[in-house]
Amino acid sequence: MVGHDGVGIGDFVLLEVIDKDHFMQNLEKRFSGGCIYTYIGEVCVSVNPYRTVNIYDQEQVNKYKGREIFENPPHIFAIADSAHKVMKQQGRDTCIVISGESGSGKTEASKIIMKYIAAVTNAGGQQEIERVKNVLLQSNAILETFGNAKTNRNDNSSRFGKYMDINFDFKGDPVGGNISNYLLEKSRVIYQQPGERNFHSFYQLLFGASDSDLSKLRLKNKVDNYFYVNQGNAASVRSISDRSDYKATQSAFRTLAFSDHEIDTIWRIVAAILHLGNVKFRPDNESVKLDDPGVLDTISGLLSVTNQELRRALCERVIAAKGEVMAKTHNEAQANYGRDAFAKAVYDRLFSWIVQKVNRAINLKDEESSRYRQKTTVIGVLDIYGFEIFDVNSFEQFCINYCNEKLQQLFIELVLKQEQEEYQREGIQWQNIDYFNNQIICDLVEQSHKGIIAILDEACLNVGKVTDEMLVEAMDQKLASHNHYSSRQLKPMEKDLKHKEDFRISHYAGKVTYNINGFLDKNRDALFQDFKRLLYSSNNPTVKEMWPEGAMDIFQTTKRPLTAGTLFKNSMIALVKNLASKEPYYVRCIKPNENKSPVQFDKEQVLHQVNYLGLIENVRVRRAGFAYRQRYDLFLRRYKMISQYTWPNFRSGNDKDGVKVLMDEQGYSDDVKYGKTKIFIRSPRTLFSLEQKRSRMI
Ligand code: ADP
Ligand code: MG
Repeated sequence: MVGHDGVGIGDFVLLEVIDKDHFMQNLEKRFSGGCIYTYIGEVCVSVNPYRTVNIYDQEQVNKYKGREIFENPPHIFAIADSAHKVMKQQGRDTCIVISGESGSGKTEASKIIMKYIAAVTNAGGQQEIERVKNVLLQSNAILETFGNAKTNRNDNSSRFGKYMDINFDFKGDPVGGNISNYLLEKSRVIYQQPGERNFHSFYQLLFGASDSDLSKLRLKNKVDNYFYVNQGNAASVRSISDRSDYKATQSAFRTLAFSDHEIDTIWRIVAAILHLGNVKFRPDNESVKLDDPGVLDTISGLLSVTNQELRRALCERVIAAKGEVMAKTHNEAQANYGRDAFAKAVYDRLFSWIVQKVNRAINLKDEESSRYRQKTTVIGVLDIYGFEIFDVNSFEQFCINYCNEKLQQLFIELVLKQEQEEYQREGIQWQNIDYFNNQIICDLVEQSHKGIIAILDEACLNVGKVTDEMLVEAMDQKLASHNHYSSRQLKPMEKDLKHKEDFRISHYAGKVTYNINGFLDKNRDALFQDFKRLLYSSNNPTVKEMWPEGAMDIFQTTKRPLTAGTLFKNSMIALVKNLASKEPYYVRCIKPNENKSPVQFDKEQVLHQVNYLGLIENVRVRRAGFAYRQRYDLFLRRYKMISQYTWPNFRSGNDKDGVKVLMDEQGYSDDVKYGKTKIFIRSPRTLFSLEQKRSRMI
């Protein structure tokens, strides 16, 4: 039972006093005692143990399979089981939202959930279901290779957001799925901070591929040779074996039915990017020349485009004016910019293409089984970037933090809504409690016309005329009176607003100062058309497939493409809508310290996370009405032994009557309310005492 397992209290709702100190004491006690999971009702709080904990084996799976949350010590398995059970028994779509900052254990949690679901399904041993399970599990290896990187916070940090739907048949077995990817941090392709690496894929190729494979790609296994992977000066990482990871990636490719040609193309593209990073330009009159023209042969060979067209795309751009087409040469800065934008776009496109191929593999069904295809229900698992505050925060952090505002908003809505709806359904009176509603910050970012993204988009319409600094002025004008916005111009005395490029958003999780430099550029996300046409002209059908818009002819007037900010906003709105339509379960991940230590519990740092995840409010909301609620039949089954009237069975009425008789006899009637299908208990003490009586009887 959750109140007494291990050390401390297994459900924060049952704390004697609910405040910061008691919450923290309990969390620390449990962490030091090796209990990494604690509930707030049905929300699972998880503290990263930073060591191997032996609580995920088959024996544990059996213990949680098909059981109720309160029957066992807190565990993420119980959450996964609950999501699966509700989905299966009630035919409702469910989702598990995993949140927390970078390195708090979100991705591990999502993998544990997937493994648990794989372990409790397909009792019949059907081959097709085994295949789907295997593909789902193996897909992680591929996505992590191309979407994860070593950062200063996490050696295996996901640099993209991931939402995965798993489809189940009526028996509750997985039969398909779909992965959506969100905003890959593509700036990492061309630049890494000290101590950080580019995406794992680059190092796996350099350290893992055989010499003969490398020489086909004209590569040497020397990271230092390649500018795009050596800037962080941290190529080898103790916890990572790029060599064996490369093998695992290759084997996952095969499990997921990537063809030899596709696998070959993927590594050619990765190699081409490595070479591209070494392309240097020299000014030559009004234009530029390549320092080392030989590298062009290599890159054009890898991408199956002509040497001449590649050179053109790098050194000039074609523009159409008054019905005529002409070439305009780049200066050095433009050429450098174009090369980097090209490298980022090629990798980003490669990543999205890989995700689509993974989806194809998950849903690859033979004729036989698709004939039996039925309506499916879904469990969605969301593992998306946590709130980020760096020394310098840019457009990426802006997007990521906005994403967290949206998820927090959803949490508020659903957790409160659910409570209220339940009281209503059950016919029980309830009073609202106060909490900070962050809708106002979501509006600040996303509102049409006056939101930051809208202002950014407007500025992007005036290419070349509006500078980043003018952008801050425009924001100041429209947002000066907004409580959650500030800038140096508006608050010159504040020490975190040092530069005129700084603006600040007071997020629900804390104040973040953003540096406007690069916002316009990253939002516009322009790639010269020439590169798109170049790749579409590739003789490699797989490369061509990745760049369909290259088919457009220069005179085709295209609508201005949506900006990166607007695309991201739209994808977040769609995501939240999708999650809101499902029955949600939450895993809130906490990072105990910055040093990846299994023993250190950094109080200040943990408290900060507890605060911005709104955990104490969560407990209060959960407790404001009733600490505990349970269906009559289940409640009776658990406690019937403590009353002579209900043991061994209650015979003079229904379950509800039985529960009433039991609670009256034991003297608890003042502390409970009886809903239509559930009993509601106000104080945790009642539950404690019930539990004590129960344990004396058994
Ligand atoms: P996030 O996705 O939140 O950035 P990760 O899930 O990648 O964080 O976790 C970071 C690291 O923490 C992992 O690589 C692993 O070493 C450790 N870790 C996280 N969760 C667990 C766990 N349940 N058991 C053991 N180690 C864990
Ligand atoms: Mg992660």
